[in-house]
Amino acid sequence: MKKTYNRYQAKKMFGQNFLKDTSVLDKIIQSMPHNHNHIVEIGPGLGDLTRRLVKCKDVTAYEVDRDLYSILQTEFCDQLEAGSLNIILGDVLTHWQNNRSLYDGRYDLIANLPYYIATNIILQCFNDNNCEHIIVMIQKEVADKFTAQCGQKEFGALSVIATLACSELRTLCIVPPQSFDPPPKVDSSVILLKKDLSKSFDTNFNDFLKKAFSAPRKRLLKTLSRFFDKDILEEIFEHLSIDSNARPHQVEASLYSHIYTKVNNNGNSRREDTTTTSGTNK
Ligand code: SAM
Repeated sequence: MKKTYNRYQAKKMFGQNFLKDTSVLDKIIQSMPHNHNHIVEIGPGLGDLTRRLVKCKDVTAYEVDRDLYSILQTEFCDQLEAGSLNIILGDVLTHWQNNRSLYDGRYDLIANLPYYIATNIILQCFNDNNCEHIIVMIQKEVADKFTAQCGQKEFGALSVIATLACSELRTLCIVPPQSFDPPPKVDSSVILLKKDLSKSFDTNFNDFLKKAFSAPRKRLLKTLSRFFDKDILEEIFEHLSIDSNARPHQVEASLYSHIYTKVNNNGNSRREDTTTTSGTNK
């Protein structure tokens, strides 16, 4: 179903909810880090955030929708001509598949993301060595998973990855549906993540975490025993002083990293069952 926005019809399939609340737009701009990084925006839409960003810094924006791309070409012809703005037409995830990074130099991602791929985009940013800060509007429920602390019920695989990948991690504001046109069905949050650039990511670690959180209410030791040798896991838990009755959300992020390393060092993966990864909090 298409919703009318002035002369433009918002397309649900591209997650188009345009941010109209100027106080939230201003807050995003105020939270921009003071550095010399380039800005990347994913999904400039009708350009409300882009207009503010390009006043501060040079911007590269990725837009998948051909109709919006052509509106933006007219709207921003001066900035495009001056070279302060570059708009790339295409799916940002495809661009990441074909290129190492979204920008050839250090950048900060600042965007009101399309919610249907927001988690994927943030995880891609963790693997993109040129990306330093991530300031994004996403669905509140997903934001809470990224920012949850150990012990909270939302603490899951995304929280562990974010805690390990970032040196700063916080919610800037919660944004109600009426701040958008058309309004989404859910609350949104703007979150700020500052990556710890000394850390690099092993993609198999994500699979390990999916296994660890595949049964959130069960004991972590029991769940991991479905995939790895139980005796060795018991030794690892004892060595790391992890309570054998702990549920997955009660174990600190850094301990997951240690368990993963030790399990791999022992080479004791008993069963590689990737079909059991559904039900994680992604
Ligand atoms: N930035 C605008 C704003 O704040 O009003 C629009 C945000 S809207 C939530 C998401 C935007 O992402 C839309 O412009 C949509 O067309 C674009 N988009 C959706 N999927 C995309 C993809 N795979 N790659 C690039 N842009 C995408």
